[in-house]
Amino acid sequence: MSHLLADVSVSSLKGVGAAVAEKLKRLNILNLQDLLFHLPLRYQDRSRVVPLGALRPGDECVIEGEVKLCDIQQGRRRSLLCRLQDGTGSVTLRFFHFSAAQKNNLTPGTRLRCFGEVRPGPAGLELVHPEYSRISDSELNPVEEHLTPVYPTTEGLHQARLRSLIEQALTQLLQGDITELIPEVLRQNWQFPALRDALLYLHRPPVDADQHLLLEGLHPAQRRLAFEELLAHHLSLLKLRQQTRQVGAPVLEPSGHLTQAFLSQLPFPLTNAQTRVAQEISADLSQPYPMLRLVQGDVGSGKTVVAALSALQAVEGDYQAAVMAPTEILAEQHFINFSRWLEPLGIEVAWLAGKLKGKARQAQLEAIASGRAVVVVGTHALFQDEVTFARLGVVVIDEQHRFGVHQRLSLREKGRQQGRVPHQLIMTATPIPRTLTMSAYADLDCSIIDELPPGRTPVNTVVIEDTRRDQVIERVRAACAEQRQVYWVCTLIEESEALQCQAAEVTAESLKETLPELRIGLVHGRMKPAEKTSVMQAFKAAELDLLVATTVIEVGVDVPNASVMIIENPERLGLAQLHQLRGRVGRGSVESHCVLMYHAPLSRQGRERLKVMRETSDGFKIAEKDLELRGPGEVLGTRQTGVMQFRMADLQRDADMLTRIRTLAEPMQQWPEQVDQLIQRWLGHAENYGNV
Ligand code: ADP
Ligand code: MG
Repeated sequence: MSHLLADVSVSSLKGVGAAVAEKLKRLNILNLQDLLFHLPLRYQDRSRVVPLGALRPGDECVIEGEVKLCDIQQGRRRSLLCRLQDGTGSVTLRFFHFSAAQKNNLTPGTRLRCFGEVRPGPAGLELVHPEYSRISDSELNPVEEHLTPVYPTTEGLHQARLRSLIEQALTQLLQGDITELIPEVLRQNWQFPALRDALLYLHRPPVDADQHLLLEGLHPAQRRLAFEELLAHHLSLLKLRQQTRQVGAPVLEPSGHLTQAFLSQLPFPLTNAQTRVAQEISADLSQPYPMLRLVQGDVGSGKTVVAALSALQAVEGDYQAAVMAPTEILAEQHFINFSRWLEPLGIEVAWLAGKLKGKARQAQLEAIASGRAVVVVGTHALFQDEVTFARLGVVVIDEQHRFGVHQRLSLREKGRQQGRVPHQLIMTATPIPRTLTMSAYADLDCSIIDELPPGRTPVNTVVIEDTRRDQVIERVRAACAEQRQVYWVCTLIEESEALQCQAAEVTAESLKETLPELRIGLVHGRMKPAEKTSVMQAFKAAELDLLVATTVIEVGVDVPNASVMIIENPERLGLAQLHQLRGRVGRGSVESHCVLMYHAPLSRQGRERLKVMRETSDGFKIAEKDLELRGPGEVLGTRQTGVMQFRMADLQRDADMLTRIRTLAEPMQQWPEQVDQLIQRWLGHAENYGNV
């Protein structure tokens, strides 16, 4: 019989009716293969009986003994206590829920076998609500021959039920077929067990298995599965990339007349890194298939200029460019920059954000649709249905790496015309740790601007407790007296934007009282875009000394004369966010300062984060640390990353495999069938996968 376990529905198993099938579905278990891939969280050792005299608190074990006493204890919580004894010692079984029949069954002299966790109780060691059964001397009750698996489960689906279903699946695995998809040669190189052996081992480990290794997920059997999953994931992204290349894109030959004019009017030469990355992009844009490139550059590395050059290449090729930013403030700032740069070259720049309404909106939509507006800057509003581009050639997405594969694809679809899609450039100031680039972003090409423009002095970062607020305020006063400008960022633990804004308002008021000689402005997320822009503009024009803000100023805002950044309660923010905020200063030539004013006591993680901030300003180091402290889900924004949810792999734990997986992708192409099956096996459930 060579049916594939992946083709056998769980409903074929004994004990699976509609209700159980529904619960299994909640665990993403539809067929026998899913069931076998549902691996234990941990194991119990039910393979031997532990003498009562040898019990230690925290043990989870099998015990046997004779009931000496069984009584109901009245008190705050009524409970049934049962004293058990063997030749070596005694222990108490405690039940909070019990029936009269239960009590009557536990008469002195009865022999019991129990399984449970040992805890210290008021009178010696206890097992609370152990599993138990009566045993008689004449019967030999065998103990388990393997470690007993404990599976992740869902409400209403008992461990015992899950175990018995998986047992059935294992029986079929022994007789049936599970396709080995990692070619023999590769498996041998890695000294991986066969899939079938790995699964058998993990569901039924021998009693002497290394439980520590298993708990850590580092057993070869686990590594083999994680490896297969990571490989499948990587192959799927490569496939996506190959498919991408089969779609056409406008060939944007650089004529260079606009880019040259643009560069010659810039007040500075490009850095070497900017030039290199601009060339990489330019080469992509002249290909007949769509570019999908990620530009990583630390805050202040000058990504905007690179974006402008890409847009100009589209214009030179007689196409439109769309530049999208995640917030209105940023989009406005880009609009201002792009207008200033491009209008002298005779290029009309359009502007579109959600808040733009009525006639003004209509006018912009019309300019975009007619193709008169060749460069269009805006927020997500750019990708609403009502927006049609005449001939979109390049899409630039700024400061946004929390974009899953599917979003990248849907953006691309937006510009599809006559079977061709626009080129896409994604820019992020949050450097992405290498492990994540290799996994989550394997479908993208990657460029790194690894150099800051000359003349920047590193930001001096100090960590101060908020009991020294007065000193901090004096520092602000002194800085402003020297014509410097200062950001004061308020954070709040509450998710509520309203509360955050309120906190900023209160802070602004109190600072105005304490520092009456300063011109103090306020921006927060609940202000109208026009208000925000005018405050930001005033700050930029040095008409304000101090800007109190919520974290809305986090990304991208550029005011070179601002050289002091105060962050209240920095312990509440992630490293990436702190790095972004700090990146708002240190953009001019004077020395800048960042004051992290924390509220004691700090958690261990909080302290660690602030220490990292004080010690380094290297965005890539900070990103690695962020990954270490928060894990990939948080760093990537798991909700948005679609296929990035792994069943078995863990990007951090298994990071060592990623490099080798990359080198395998090529040789795997010799086995195209396996490639497809691997993708199907591991990503088959992912919605829309490969829907290109
Ligand atoms: P980010 O990469 O954070 O988006 P920006 O594009 O906002 O950085 O650039 C930061 C600042 O550096 C801006 O004021 C910009 O005009 C300036 N800048 C960009 N490139 C250079 C350069 N090659 N030399 C000097 N200043 C530059
Ligand atoms: Mg920027």
